[in-house]
Amino acid sequence: MTAARKMCFDRILPRDVMRPLLTTTGPSGMPRAISPRGKAWLNGSNLKVRFLDGSETEQATAREQALWWADYANLTFDFGDAPDADIRISFNTSDGAWSYLGTDARQLPANEATMNLGFLDGGTAGHEFGHAIGLAHEHSSPSGGIEWNEPVVLADLAGPPNFWDEATTRHNVFFKYSIDQIHGTEFDPESIMLYAFPASWTKNGIATHANEILSSLDKEFVAGEKMYPRSGTVPSTATVLTVGADRATADIGKPGEEDLFRFTADQNGAYQIDTRGQTDVYMKLFGPNSQTALINEDDDSGYGLNPKISAQLLAGDYYVQIRHYDNSGTGTYSIGVKRR
Ligand SMILES: [Zn+2]
Repeated sequence: MTAARKMCFDRILPRDVMRPLLTTTGPSGMPRAISPRGKAWLNGSNLKVRFLDGSETEQATAREQALWWADYANLTFDFGDAPDADIRISFNTSDGAWSYLGTDARQLPANEATMNLGFLDGGTAGHEFGHAIGLAHEHSSPSGGIEWNEPVVLADLAGPPNFWDEATTRHNVFFKYSIDQIHGTEFDPESIMLYAFPASWTKNGIATHANEILSSLDKEFVAGEKMYPRSGTVPSTATVLTVGADRATADIGKPGEEDLFRFTADQNGAYQIDTRGQTDVYMKLFGPNSQTALINEDDDSGYGLNPKISAQLLAGDYYVQIRHYDNSGTGTYSIGVKRR
């Protein structure tokens, strides 16, 4: 018997459940995942955080560990009572510890928790805030080389304190993110995003220990150009687009680069934003007058492999984030916004 293990429960949106498992054939004939979705907030975001319940001590622990990330990532946390808080935390002791990933939190009703801290052992809050800023589980890294002993893991996690059914364990433990979906490139045994498991869970005898503080790679990664670099483009330095004007040309010059555009809708109405060209890019739209309110995201609704978002928008300022579909991809494209 192994000791009871408190495992973190990844919360995923219903429409994400099937997507990562599907593959299709891209132009090159290579299989690829249909929808890798960037979960990161816009670089430089100020994330509003609201506690739905919890004691002063519990809230203080959560606040302290959230700031572990803000010391390195170009993000700030604003703890308060904002009704439109981006991250909403409950401390329900019968619901384990979990968090939605990054911008997924914006897709939930505003009265629902986006994170639960049912226990606060060690660096649990730091780990869950890692998810809240868009980090996945380190053990999901395909470079980790873990061969799960599935019957043992399924049996252990079906018992207390997790009581997970097979599907839940398959998702939370066995599912390996496709290489397209993750930014990380090497397995970091010191990462706070790693969970502890015993050697009996793997066929090749690999065991891990829980990490209660950020590793040096965790710090480097969230401060790096693929996540939240202090030197990167932030909303105030975004490239300005004019509604109805000629299309702007841009390019993803380096793998992992994200371009940021800003436009002003001067009246309420239907707007369309799209890209053109041969580069397979992915689009996210935020606003109005907010860097964190995700309105929509799109991969291929436009011409060819281009994204297109059509939406009824209120007058205000909007941000459009463009990244390559593949983390290793680069290329040029044009982008335009017009009224419909
Ligand atoms: Zn987790």
